[in-house]
Amino acid sequence: MKHYVTHLEAAIDGTPLPFGQLHGLHNSRPIWVRYNLPAIQKAVTPAEIATRPPSLWRYRELLPLPFDVEPVTFGEGMSPLLPCPRLGASLGLRNLLVKDESQLPTGSFKSRGMTMAVSMAKWLGVKRLALPTAGNAGGAAAAYGARAGMEVFVFMPEDTPSVNQMEVMQFGAKAYRVNGLINDCGKIVGSLKDTTGWFDLSTLKEPYRIEGKKTMGLELAEQLGWKLPDVILYPTGGGTGLIGMWKAFAELKELGWLKSDMMPRLVSCQAEGCAPIVAAFDKGERFAELFPNARTVASGLRVPAAVGDFMMLDAIRESGGRAVAGKEDAIAPWMIRSGSAEGISICPETAVCFDVLERLVLEGWVGKNEQVVVFNTGAAQKYIEALPPNLPRVDKDGDVLKQIGW
Ligand SMILES: *Cc1c(COP(=O)(O)O)cnc(C)c1O
Repeated sequence: MKHYVTHLEAAIDGTPLPFGQLHGLHNSRPIWVRYNLPAIQKAVTPAEIATRPPSLWRYRELLPLPFDVEPVTFGEGMSPLLPCPRLGASLGLRNLLVKDESQLPTGSFKSRGMTMAVSMAKWLGVKRLALPTAGNAGGAAAAYGARAGMEVFVFMPEDTPSVNQMEVMQFGAKAYRVNGLINDCGKIVGSLKDTTGWFDLSTLKEPYRIEGKKTMGLELAEQLGWKLPDVILYPTGGGTGLIGMWKAFAELKELGWLKSDMMPRLVSCQAEGCAPIVAAFDKGERFAELFPNARTVASGLRVPAAVGDFMMLDAIRESGGRAVAGKEDAIAPWMIRSGSAEGISICPETAVCFDVLERLVLEGWVGKNEQVVVFNTGAAQKYIEALPPNLPRVDKDGDVLKQIGW
């Protein structure tokens, strides 16, 4: 059974843990996957990877699923890295790029984590999955679970976007609305684990979703010719995206695949209505406090407490980056402004990033000539509530030109 994992490692205290069996948290905190990087260096080169099919599974040596095990997949990954000259110019930037995750299966980057976590769970003999969700994770888990022939239980806040409610239903998950937030849903999943025998697929509560999300960082490096940008803006909820990318960059550096040692500054973007990481960053803390009365239409950011808070804050600080909150009333306008400028289906979470980016450019923290990458983590179509359609009507028998103000 070929793979390059050496062991797993508790993030909070470095305790080594065996690979090849099911793990949840260790001392209530997440677990890293560690690889034999010198062996990977001998086994494969970036040039060889470039010849493989365009899915995230092209980085197989840097992923935990053994080579002889078939992944549970829809061909996800290799999302486009789109230059945004008009949007960039309007912000005063010469080199703005959007990595567009809206095109992935189920319309968000959550499919990266789920292809990995569900593949690993299936390999390790799991038959029944459960997870709390703020929206997109539930849809992705339901789809990958269905593809794997597994039973999936989803618990979501009762005001989760309607498209997320629809998709779990359509993918046949046993899904329930809870009169609380994602952390309340997480408590239900955790407390019934022993009775139901389901495997807890919560963000960072198993080791492999982060390995899937890591591939955003690997793809970005490959798409930029094995170099990294100056600044990355990422909308942060549970934090796997940000943490995963930072892990990817560290692994690439150790492999010697990067043409420059320069690491990007990571900007963790949160909505002002739920910004626990921003609060902890500002206070200089390594752990975040529960954010009270969390509210934002950017549902993926409505995560008032995260088990990986210290991993996010460590990554942001190591990178010389920042955690900044965007304004709630800027979300819908930015969905329209960025979508209109470039035709990209920008989700509310990424709209928050643009509000933050505008401020950082004005402050001079982001320079005009710097290469800036914003992650568009999901598709706007999934958020009817964030941008309710409201088109003017024309009367088919009337003077249409006049009615449309020509
Ligand atoms: C889940 C989600 C986020 C937050 O991602 P984390 O990796 O959990 O921090 C951002 N945007 C969208 C669209 C999401 O679904």
